[in-house]
Amino acid sequence: MLVRDATLADGRVRDVRIRSGRIATVGQHLQEDGETIDADGNLLLPGAVDAHVHFRQPGFPHKETWASGSASAAAGGVTTAVDQPNTDPPTVSGAAFDQKSDLAGASLVDFGINGGVTPDWDPDSLFDRPLFALGEVFLADSTGEMGIDADRFEAALERARTAGVPVTVHAEDADLFDEAALDRADEAGEGAAAGVAADAWSAYRTADAEIAAVERACETAEAVGHPIHVAHTSTPEAVDAAADRGMTCEVTPHHLLLSREDYAELGTFGRMNPPLRSEDRREALFERLVDGRIDLVATDHAPHTRAEKTAPLSEAPSGVPGVETALPLLLATAREGRLSYERVREVTASTPAEVFGLGRKGRIAEGYDADLVLVDPDAARPIRAGDLHTKCDWTPFEGREGVFPRWTMRRGELVYDARGDGERFGDDDGRDVRAASE
Ligand SMILES: [Zn+2]
Repeated sequence: MLVRDATLADGRVRDVRIRSGRIATVGQHLQEDGETIDADGNLLLPGAVDAHVHFRQPGFPHKETWASGSASAAAGGVTTAVDQPNTDPPTVSGAAFDQKSDLAGASLVDFGINGGVTPDWDPDSLFDRPLFALGEVFLADSTGEMGIDADRFEAALERARTAGVPVTVHAEDADLFDEAALDRADEAGEGAAAGVAADAWSAYRTADAEIAAVERACETAEAVGHPIHVAHTSTPEAVDAAADRGMTCEVTPHHLLLSREDYAELGTFGRMNPPLRSEDRREALFERLVDGRIDLVATDHAPHTRAEKTAPLSEAPSGVPGVETALPLLLATAREGRLSYERVREVTASTPAEVFGLGRKGRIAEGYDADLVLVDPDAARPIRAGDLHTKCDWTPFEGREGVFPRWTMRRGELVYDARGDGERFGDDDGRDVRAASE
C-alpha cells in the first residue's frame, strides 16, 4: 500500500509505502504498487499511544466495553490504548489478567494491560504475565478501593525493578484532603448552585495532597532505583517535582484545557481524581506541556453513564471520557498556534512509545508499525457527544473545537474511515503490544 502526498508534522511532504503492516519506505515520488491512498497534502501523524484508559471490562460493561472503547479510540486517532487495573475483578493476579486479556480480544486497536497493586495482590502470577506496566498504583489514596500505603508501594517497586516492568503512579495523599469542604457541597442541593458547589471537589482533594504524594513517590523511586511515571499530574508543582528527579509524567486533556471555572457548567460531570485546578495552575500546566517538562498526554478515559454522574457530589463517580477527543483537541489547539504539530506528535505518539519501550510504535519511519492517522487541519468541527463512539453519551468538551481523523490505520489496516459517506470501522484485530512476538 502507498499513502501518497502526505504532510508530516515537521512540514515535509512525503509518500509512505507500507508492507505487511509496517512502514517500508518514507520518500518522495514513490512508485505505486497495489492500493494507493491519496492524502491530498493533509497532515499524517503516527497513531497515538494512550497510556491511560479505563475500558471498564471485566465488571462494568454498562459504562464501556473493549469494543466500544477501542472504536472510540480508533475514531480519535489512538492506535494503542493501555488499560488500567481497577476493573472487577481488579487486575492484580495472573488469573484476572487472563480474564481481561480474553475480553481485550474484541479490541480494534492494539493495547496494553496494566497490573495493579492491592493488599491482596498476587505478584508472582501477575509478573508471570506480559504486563504493560505496573500501575496505576494508587499511592496514599485511601479513599479508593486500590489505595496502598508507602511500605507496600516500596515493595511493589522492588518487584517491578526485579522484573524490569515500568511503574505508573496515581499519587494523592488522602491525609491532606479537606473533609469539611465536601459537607458544604452537599448542603447546596440541586440546580446551578450544585454546579458551582461542585468546586468543593477541588477544595476537598487539595493540590498539596498531590504535590506531597508525588514528591514522596519520586523519593521512594530514587531510593529503590527504579524510575516511575507519574499519572495525570494536575499541578505544575507535581510536574516540577517529577521532572527535577528525572521521572516522567503525563497530563490529561481535561487538566490541560479545563479548570475550576468550568464547574458552573459541568457540575458533578466535572468530578475527577485528581480534581480540576485553578485557571492559573491550568495555564502553568500548558506552559510545561509546550516547554517539555511534561512528557506526554494520556487521557485517563474514565467513562460513567450520565445517570451515574447525575448525583450529589459526594456520590457521583469520578472520571470523564476522553480517548476520542484528546488528539482532536490538541490539533485544534495547534491550529490556533498555541502548540506545534511536532509537539502534538511527540506528546501523543513518539514519547509515550519511548517512555514505555514500544520499539516499533510512535514514529513514521522505516521498520515501524504502520499506525497512522490522517487529518485535515482546516476541517475543525464542534465536539458533540452524539458523534462520539464511547458508550458514555456525554463529554466535558461539548461544543469545543476538534480536528478529527479522516482515517486511522493500525498496522496497515484501516480501523476507522470517515472518507465519503458515513464512517466505517475495521476488524477487532488489535493485539497486546507486550505479548506480540517480534
Ligand atoms: Zn488515576
